[in-house]
Parts: sequence; C-alpha cells; structure tokens
Amino acid sequence: MAERVAQCRCGAVEARCQGDPVRVSVCHCLICQQRSGSVLAVQARFAKEDVAILGSTKTFHRVNEEGTRSRFLFCIECGCTIAYMVDNFPDLVAIPVGAFADPNFPAPHYSVYEGRKHAWVAVVGPQIEHFD
Ligand SMILES: [Zn+2]
Ligand SMILES: [Zn+2]
Repeated sequence: MAERVAQCRCGAVEARCQGDPVRVSVCHCLICQQRSGSVLAVQARFAKEDVAILGSTKTFHRVNEEGTRSRFLFCIECGCTIAYMVDNFPDLVAIPVGAFADPNFPAPHYSVYEGRKHAWVAVVGPQIEHFD
C-alpha cells in the first residue's frame, strides 16, 4: 500500500498516510480561509487508523457555527496545521493537501461551502461536484 507523507513547512512534524484518501475536497468556508491563509482550502480525509502523526504538536479546539467541534493539530515550531478532526466524523483525519507538496496528489471530487466562495474563484476538475 502506498504511503503519502505530509509535512509542516519546517519538517518537524509529519503525517504518514497509508493508501488513498477516502475523500478529497475543496472548502470555501471562512474557517478554512482563516486556517489556510488562502481564499480556499483543499484537504484529504483518511481513515484514522491509516494516519500516524510524528513530532510535537499542539491542539487548537474550535466550536463551529453548527455547534460541532474541531481539533486542529499544529507544529509547535512553525505553526503549520498538519491535521484536523471534526467531532461528527470521528473515524476520519483531514490533512491539508498542500502539506504533501505533491502536484500529483489525487484531485478533489467535492467543492463545498460555495456560498462563501470568492467570486473570481473557479474550481474545476474531472469529476467535481459543487455544494453550497
Ligand atoms: Zn513545523
Ligand atoms: Zn471549511
């Protein structure tokens, strides 16, 4: 089974992910915009048992608009978010796709929170589904 390794930008923290992601999505929500510092975020979700996080992280807890809770793991050296978990999907771990630094990473299938999408952004792909 193929292993994909995501790293924070200083390299002190890694997420080692086995096999293919179960879901790759683009999110336009304001939380993801603030987390990523970009106007959209792309994340890959893996089964929890297929992800190993190595290195020293701290956890940022957040209550979302819908009342759900998220936990964001970030590197204590460079501050990069290496993974996050949403309480209503307890079996999945989300990894920011950019952390893989791999232009051949599988393309997203879903574009969500398009109600918050910047007007000039167009998300395209072979099989993309769009959701508000
Ligand atoms: Zn780091
Ligand atoms: Zn989002």
